[in-house]
This record gives sequence, structure tokens and C-alpha cells, in this order.
Amino acid sequence: MSSKNFSLCFLLFLNFIFFSPIQTYSQLSSSKFKVVLDAGHGGKDSGNTGNDYLEKDIALSIVLQVGEELKKYDDIEVIYTRTKDVFIPLHKRADIANKAKADLFVSVHCNGVANSSPYGTETFVLGLHRNKDNLEVAMKENAVIKFEEDYEVKYDGFDPESPESYIIFSLTQEEFLDQSILLADFVQKEFTNTLKRKNRGVKQAGFLVLRETYMPSVLVETGFLTNKKEGAYLNSKSGQDKLADAIIDGINNYKNTINVSNIEAELEEYKVSTEAVVEDFDDVIFKVQLAASSKKIDPSPENFKKLSPLSRNLENDLYKYYFGETNNYIEAQNLKDKAKAQGYTSAFIVAFNKEAKKISIKEALKTKADE
Ligand SMILES: [Zn+2]
Repeated sequence: MSSKNFSLCFLLFLNFIFFSPIQTYSQLSSSKFKVVLDAGHGGKDSGNTGNDYLEKDIALSIVLQVGEELKKYDDIEVIYTRTKDVFIPLHKRADIANKAKADLFVSVHCNGVANSSPYGTETFVLGLHRNKDNLEVAMKENAVIKFEEDYEVKYDGFDPESPESYIIFSLTQEEFLDQSILLADFVQKEFTNTLKRKNRGVKQAGFLVLRETYMPSVLVETGFLTNKKEGAYLNSKSGQDKLADAIIDGINNYKNTINVSNIEAELEEYKVSTEAVVEDFDDVIFKVQLAASSKKIDPSPENFKKLSPLSRNLENDLYKYYFGETNNYIEAQNLKDKAKAQGYTSAFIVAFNKEAKKISIKEALKTKADE
């Protein structure tokens, strides 16, 4: 080995020793973060046709824009369920996601009701509906299986129009509920805070397409075609651009929260120096989310693998269970590692501001970047 080669090797070695933690997610992870984008309806199934707009076309247009943008990230792989105006059965859509072993499934739709006044965005995760309105959205979206031959057989006797068929939904997808809600929250936050759309919230209902997937999954209702003003917005290029951007930001916020496994990568992403976060964040409280559930459980250490301190908070009709409480981000990372070591493998850090309102990690870290 020549001395020049030796110094090069030595430099590489130093680089490995000192700088290896400073890597982005793409370098750390052997495989890409796979997002399945599902444009609702298609072909003979137009979806809802409020004000003569076509849900299938608007959903596809938004989805293609989201995909185009996400493809630019070298650590994201985009998989579409359809890129054209074709009919795809619901179970096939889920199959595509399951076969790809996707990290995320995002189905995009537009709402429609008989009454022309309702408007606003809502994002659904799978679960038991809490009211008739949520059930009705699911019933309408599930009715598309009637376009499929043998739907009774394929969906085990499921009748999209019978409320009894929906009772089973409370039991499925519990494993991914946490992450699904996290993503839904991020998407709704973008719609509400950035686009100023009316927020109808994160909701649960029995959507067949979500029942069949084995990964965190959401169904986004981007607005009501049946509302004159919102229908025109949804059908416009600028409206679709904005909605697509919001979904992209929601997905990115989710990915950053779930996947970044070391502090340096996270800081680098937000252009915050390590020195800045060694000190406490005066206006932010970090906690580690262990679980979300519709069940109310006593937040005592014996129920959570001896972890302590614990807290519980009711958010969007779900109880969130948190471990730890600190102003220090590095300490929060340590708490997260401790939770993971106890078996809470999907545990993640959440941040709250002074008013106890949940903020994204990005927002929290930025309070240091701005100094
Ligand atoms: Zn739809």
C-alpha cells in the first residue's frame, strides 16, 4: 500500500470513527422507505360525481403529483396502485401494498354527500366508527366492491350496506393503529395549518381497503365535491397542487418521526447543531409515546413493562400512553431507546409546547435552530 493510499484509508477510517453517526436515513437504512399511493376508484367506478366532478380523476391527479415529488427523495420508493383510469378491486390494492412490504399505505379520495353544505378534510384510520357520519363515509367508499365479481366470496360475506358487517373492524389493524394515527394527524395538520382547510379531524371507520393492508394505513378525504366552493377547489390545478404538497409534508413528517434512529441524523435534517440541543429546551416537553388505544388502561408501571413515569392523554377519542417527561432532547432519545429495549419497538418521541399542545419534532428542534 502506497503512503498516499494509506493516508486515504486512514482518513476513511477516521471518518468512520467520528462521523458515522452523522448520516441520513437513506445511508443508515439498507432498504428504502416504501410508500404505496392509492388513487381511489377508477375505470367503470367513477367514485362520487358531486357537481359533475369526477372523484376518480381528482384522486389520481393528486396521487400522481404526490408520487412525482416523493420520488425525488433517494430514500423513498413510490408504488402506485394505479397510474391510469382503470378499475382496480379493493383487495388488489391492498395486495400490491402487502406484496411490496410497504411501510405506508395512503389512499386518496374525495367526499360526497346529498347535502351540499358540508365541506372540509378528514383522514381516516381503520377502526370502529364513533358516529353515523363516519360509518356513512366508509359505507360509501366500500360500496365500490359491488363493481367486483364475486365480492361476497372475496370479502367473506361482507355486505358494504349492512351496519352489522362493520362490527368486526374494531379488532383489526390494532397493531398499526398508533402509526396510522400519527400519519393521519400529520396530514390533517398540514391541511389545517398550512392550507387553512376546514379540519373535520382524524377519524376511525371500517374501510375495507384499510382492513386488508398489513402496515400503517390511512384514507384521506381531501374535501367534498358536493360542496360548490370546495368542489371547484378540488377540481382546480392549484387546489390539487396544494393538497398534494400537504400530503407530501405529512408523509415526510411521519417518516422523520418514525424512522430516524439516531439523533445526529435528525439534527442534520433540520440543520440544528448538536451543541444547540445539549442544553434544555425551555419551551418544549418531550415524551415517548408507547401506545395508543381505545381502551382506558391505568398508566402504572406494572401495565407498561415496569417503565416509569407514565402519563395518559385522551386525543382524538384515543388514549395515548407516554413514558418519561423531559426538556432535554438527548434525554428523550435515551428514554426512547429504553422503551424500545423493553419491547416497545415502535415507540417514538413526541413534543409538546408550553400550552401542552402537541407539535412536531421538526417544530420543536427549530426552536433551537432559530436562536
Ligand atoms: Zn372514494
